[in-house]
Amino acid sequence: MKTERFDKKLFKQEVLNNLKTQFRVELDNASQQQIYQAVAYALKEWIIEDWMDTQKTYEEKDPKILYYMSMEFLMGRALGNNLINMSMYGEVKEALDELGVDLNAVEDQEPDPALGNGGLGRLAACFLDSLATLGYAAYGCGIRYQYGMFKQKIKDGYQIEVPDEWLKNGNPFELKRPEYAKEVRFGGNIRTEYDEATGRTNFIQENYQSVMAVPFDYPIVGYGNHIVNTLRIWDAEAITDFQLDSFDKGEYDKAVEQKNLAKNIVEVLYPNDNHYEGKELRLKQQYFFVSASLQAAVAKYKKNHDDITKLYEKMTIQMNDTHPTVSVAELMRILMDEEGLGWDEAWEVTTKTCAYTNHTIMAEALEKWPIDLFSKLLPRVYQIVEEIDRRFVNKIREMYPGNEEKVKKMAILWDGQVRMAHMAIAAGYSVNGVAKLHTEILKNQELKDFYQMMPEKFNNKTNGITQRRFLMHGNPLLADWVTKKLGTDTWATDLSLMSGLKKYVDDPKAQKEFMDIKLQNKKRLAKYILEHNGVEVDPTSIFDVQVKRLHEYKRQLMNILHVMYLYNQLKKNPNMKFYPRTFIFGAKAAAGYLRAKQTIKLINSVADKVNNDASIKGKLKVVFIEDYRVSNAEWIFAAADVSEQISTASKEASGTGNMKFMLNGAPTLGTMDGANVEIVDEVGAENAFIFGMSSEEVINYENNGGYHPYEIYQNDKDIHEVLDQLVDGTYANGDPELYKDLYQSLLFGDTGSQADMYFILKDFRSYAEAQKKVEEAYRDTKGWAKMAMTNTAGCGKFSSDRTIQEYVDDIWHLDKIR
Ligand SMILES: *Cc1c(COP(=O)(O)O)cnc(C)c1O
Repeated sequence: MKTERFDKKLFKQEVLNNLKTQFRVELDNASQQQIYQAVAYALKEWIIEDWMDTQKTYEEKDPKILYYMSMEFLMGRALGNNLINMSMYGEVKEALDELGVDLNAVEDQEPDPALGNGGLGRLAACFLDSLATLGYAAYGCGIRYQYGMFKQKIKDGYQIEVPDEWLKNGNPFELKRPEYAKEVRFGGNIRTEYDEATGRTNFIQENYQSVMAVPFDYPIVGYGNHIVNTLRIWDAEAITDFQLDSFDKGEYDKAVEQKNLAKNIVEVLYPNDNHYEGKELRLKQQYFFVSASLQAAVAKYKKNHDDITKLYEKMTIQMNDTHPTVSVAELMRILMDEEGLGWDEAWEVTTKTCAYTNHTIMAEALEKWPIDLFSKLLPRVYQIVEEIDRRFVNKIREMYPGNEEKVKKMAILWDGQVRMAHMAIAAGYSVNGVAKLHTEILKNQELKDFYQMMPEKFNNKTNGITQRRFLMHGNPLLADWVTKKLGTDTWATDLSLMSGLKKYVDDPKAQKEFMDIKLQNKKRLAKYILEHNGVEVDPTSIFDVQVKRLHEYKRQLMNILHVMYLYNQLKKNPNMKFYPRTFIFGAKAAAGYLRAKQTIKLINSVADKVNNDASIKGKLKVVFIEDYRVSNAEWIFAAADVSEQISTASKEASGTGNMKFMLNGAPTLGTMDGANVEIVDEVGAENAFIFGMSSEEVINYENNGGYHPYEIYQNDKDIHEVLDQLVDGTYANGDPELYKDLYQSLLFGDTGSQADMYFILKDFRSYAEAQKKVEEAYRDTKGWAKMAMTNTAGCGKFSSDRTIQEYVDDIWHLDKIR
């Protein structure tokens, strides 16, 4: 194998050669982008060998294959990560140094493939990394969006969305595979035809439109094992077999429609996180990639196996949230209409093949499609959904005779809508939540009826993250230090070894080394902030960080209100005891989410005022980092002192940002929500700052009509002052209207919804007290070092390697390749 021995000379030659053959330039005249491409193509040659070997091994060993179906894969840059996983990073850096080329600058030329919104897409990316590293045969299946997540620009404090043209310069790592193209059909009508010979009724789709789904494959390089799996994302092409000279208007119109369909379907990623928009195009996207992926999967199975009824022995499908749930009906369609199975046989195969992951309990994120829309777009699939529903409702009635309440709560088709989660649960052989607390809430509250009916399906798989990207690549100083302290680098594939650092948490020398590294990383980020924001921040101040999608339930608003409160204190008493703090935010808001965008504007307005107020002597700074994404996230985690995980308890299913901070030695300031609970389990309550209502309290209030924030406003003069500043123009150049909606939402709510739905005022005091404790703890240099180190030492559980092994053991039962 080529990667067995890295040949520096050969690698340099390949880079120079690529510059010539691709761009007709010498190194001296090449642009940074051209150098990036030349390096990436050189690396690809190394990868290809392992990729082909891996696929050959899979052919021979015939392992069970996982198809991880996801609308989103938030991959982050590939170059650096591939170099790390191939154990070539240091050597390639050296080779490029000798050419006078800086690897960091080259890496910076790669557009961040942002085919995802936030946590859900990043989870899919971490899972692919772990699957390859652990040696399991897996495909990631998704969509090759022409434009991924928009680029965020901040102008006058407002978010501006700029299209992400990530494919503009081509992509060195992708491989087009036209030989695996599949046709996907939409619309039309279904004609039934009785076949005398077989005694079966055939269902024939007529008058449909179709597109060609064309796959692009991306290598997913395992760490140190020469295994290379595949992320297969689908592009759409028009089917153009019509003749322009035929002058048949009907044909011509249809051809134009099909061209538009192909162009539109993969054009953009919907920029909503934890919120769905019932747009027809979104359903088209879902069916498009699901149908193409399943057609390809079944074809692959049939190449080497005759018995389609044993399909589930060789493949399994994981549905990442409800977005790919149409998989259930599409697999039924393929098995019945194309493979000739009867309903019962097809159902047995399907229900042994499909499994479902639930990512949220929030009503606005639960997908429901109007039956009208669904049945028009997918007429045959809809017939199958109707039959699935009919049989499922029969089963409910059998189990709960006379209890129509159960039918109403659980049916798949209800009130003119297709409830996707219900179909996923009815058909899936596994239903998992993504953290212990979340799974308990599913079982005892949101999905209680389903749990009572089918308890055996429910299980928990607490999320995880890959240490290869978020420590080895993002924080090389700390990674090297860990290796030195542990005397081994095998924590790269066994993060539980990090517990070996516990014996150093009281060691003054180790503490100093650890905090020195943190300081280096803070300086790196401070430089980035100076370059990007023009704001000078003090690397010795506390870096208090909240980076994640902007959403009301994540409560960035509570964070910035607290900053406003601190600023008020400082103004009144400039000599108060106050440890310098830098509050760092990073967050994209969905383009249509006005309240989230107002919050971004507020953060930037507060930053403007606070950062430019000489009277507070630079003790308080606020920074909003533009365009939060995987590549800058890696540096931000490395530089954080405090990890803000302050969601309203019960709303954050797991969170994974919390784990990346922990890995990099930042204690959690958070609520008992999602995986925060398990982080506290690992490090102990004394190594975190926990505050706020419990999930039970929140749910209890919600079930009883909310609470009265106005009372808090009236009785707490600090909160009163801060809220008034939202409408007295303090942060709005005198404009009382700018933040009026935020003010109203906190005190009065919207029509039909509770005031302060996310309990910001209710939790504010307890949050402010926890913040006070952070400051006190930070003053104790040794105590803080111990706490930070204890977090790094305690992060072992949160590797996505652990998560994937649990999925394999309990759900997928994949065969390990060595
Ligand atoms: C990890 C990650 C997320 C998820 O963060 P949460 O705090 O869990 O919401 C979102 N975006 C990026 C770029 C990430 O790396």
